Amino acid sequence: MPHPSNPAVFIDRDGTLMEEVHYCNDPENVRLIAGAGDALRELRAAGYKTVLVTNQNGIARGIISPQQYEAVHKRLLEMLGEDTLDKAYMCADPSDKPSTHRKPAPGMLLQASVELSLDLSRSWIIGDKSIDIECGLNAGVAGILVKTGYGHTVGECGARFTAETIVDAARWILEKT
Ligand SMILES: [Mg+2]
Repeated sequence: MPHPSNPAVFIDRDGTLMEEVHYCNDPENVRLIAGAGDALRELRAAGYKTVLVTNQNGIARGIISPQQYEAVHKRLLEMLGEDTLDKAYMCADPSDKPSTHRKPAPGMLLQASVELSLDLSRSWIIGDKSIDIECGLNAGVAGILVKTGYGHTVGECGARFTAETIVDAARWILEKT
């Protein structure tokens, strides 16, 4: 019998899935964190929905056009390969205005939870900033900080675990659950 609701792993994009690029608006600048595609495939094979959640306030600021975001996203998907992401959510809200969806607000996770019928209590979020971990906590989702991207600069932030990269984070989740 299928489980009535799926656990998910939410994954930040910049500095977590791909190398941090200041306002990435060119597909040529996409560099995957080594092993990211396989890590996502392993999580999916274990029954997790994999959901990208990314803040892109560069769109609100006019630094990244929606077309450029789509081109970068398409390149990222090509590099990750087949069967890696179930869904991607992007929040273009500016960082200087209230937002229900811009991390650390939980909107993207709550929307995904409805649209993909997720069990948030068995879900995780992986990210390189404290706002990723806070976003998880705001939705009742435990967080894993990665040291890639800005992660090496983050102090105590409420993460359940600190991993070297997304590969270690995925391995930790799979060992734990
Ligand atoms: Mg990030």
